[in-house]
Amino acid sequence: MRYISTRGTAPSLSFEEAMLTGLARDGGLYVPETIPQLSHDDIAAMAGQSYEEVAFTVMRPFIGDTFTDAEFRDLIAKAYADFGHDSRAPLKELAPNHFLLELFHGPTLAFKDFAMQLIGQMFQLALGRKGERVTIVGATSGDTGSAAIEAFRGLANVDVVILYPHGRVSEVQRRQMTTPVERNVHALAVDGDFDDCQARLKDMFNDFEFRDGVKLAGVNSINWGRVLAQVVYYFSSAVSLGAPDRKMSFTVPTGNFGDIFAGYIAKKMGLPIDQLVVATNQNDILHRCLSGQGYHKDTVHPSISPSMDIQVSSNFERALFDAYDRDGSAVAQLMAELGQGGFDVSQGAAQALSENYTSGRASEEETSATITDMLGRSGEILCPHSAVGVKVANEKRDPATPMITLATAHPAKFPDAVEAATGIRPPLPPRMADLYDRAERVTRVANDLEALKTQIKGLIAQ
Ligand SMILES: *Cc1c(COP(=O)(O)O)cnc(C)c1O
Repeated sequence: MRYISTRGTAPSLSFEEAMLTGLARDGGLYVPETIPQLSHDDIAAMAGQSYEEVAFTVMRPFIGDTFTDAEFRDLIAKAYADFGHDSRAPLKELAPNHFLLELFHGPTLAFKDFAMQLIGQMFQLALGRKGERVTIVGATSGDTGSAAIEAFRGLANVDVVILYPHGRVSEVQRRQMTTPVERNVHALAVDGDFDDCQARLKDMFNDFEFRDGVKLAGVNSINWGRVLAQVVYYFSSAVSLGAPDRKMSFTVPTGNFGDIFAGYIAKKMGLPIDQLVVATNQNDILHRCLSGQGYHKDTVHPSISPSMDIQVSSNFERALFDAYDRDGSAVAQLMAELGQGGFDVSQGAAQALSENYTSGRASEEETSATITDMLGRSGEILCPHSAVGVKVANEKRDPATPMITLATAHPAKFPDAVEAATGIRPPLPPRMADLYDRAERVTRVANDLEALKTQIKGLIAQ
């Protein structure tokens, strides 16, 4: 299995190389050259299997000879061992034929743990046997950073530096990033928004002297390994509700388009998916684009679902690559136009996108009202991101087809928004109850490439 860049000019790589690299050297994102297929029988055989067994079947065809079967099974087992629920990703019925897929039972209470815990294990094995050390730099709207720090803290072969937008993450998110004591993990609070953090990260990758000097690696959802790990729960959840003999739909609270793109990959692999619904908050560039209005940047409006406060949705490039029939130069052209503010999507590509995705948005008031309403109706306390999903799912779903809405974070990660909507302040699970008492360690940095490079070189030299 080879991986190619969405901008068409970087060399193709193996799974191991693509995973350890992150962004392609032509600025593009790596995607598999072909999508492996699972047959009806392969999928049917997943019924009754553990999450880990499903994970092995789904991901094995993508990893080539990077790991042996035995190694890969072991990595998967370790990745999910610390999850707080035996089935890893349990389903709850919200209403007839509407299910919530709880993806928040990992160590940092958001779905990012599914990919990050596995990436941590894969990096450790791959780097350890090569005797190499890398510097992982990540940009976060809150949850990627905490999940990455949790997955990599204390590992011998990596330094981890996380850029988050100062003042724009929840206190729980911030504390999860600033309180770990291990010296190989560092939180940087950037004076900017998430798009600034993500743009500076891309600048670092495009600065080859810095990139090669610190052996830069990326674990944002630009990293194919992240997307891949998220394909698994589409299969596990759909099979538990009767797939492949029954079609399912999914609604996914979306920011960077990573999680929903994983659903698209599941569909391409053979999982019978009816609708894939993109749910955005008031930062609705994806909804506008999928409604035929082109992809034009706006400023970020901070919301109560901060992990989706994004305008430049990096994985959307992967969707565009397929929508433009895998024409890397067309994608490179669009991304150049995006640098100037935005672009219009060609008619053919818009048609291709509409065959795979539908979309909706939730305003702040609608998000909050959904949290209140669902508590009354089903007893379920939703985090604001999951509430965006439920609101849009209710608009889009066809009652005859099971709808699975992804619950992307635990409500205790966003206690202020939940309390405002319900009067209930959701408590943290016991294993992190002392989070508010731990000392914080963080460095504030300007939204400036040179300042960031200097900081990072200093931190990893310690
Ligand atoms: C990251 C995140 C999202 C958005 O996921 P993408 O893969 O970036 O679309 C939604 N909800 C929560 C809680 C998140 O942490």
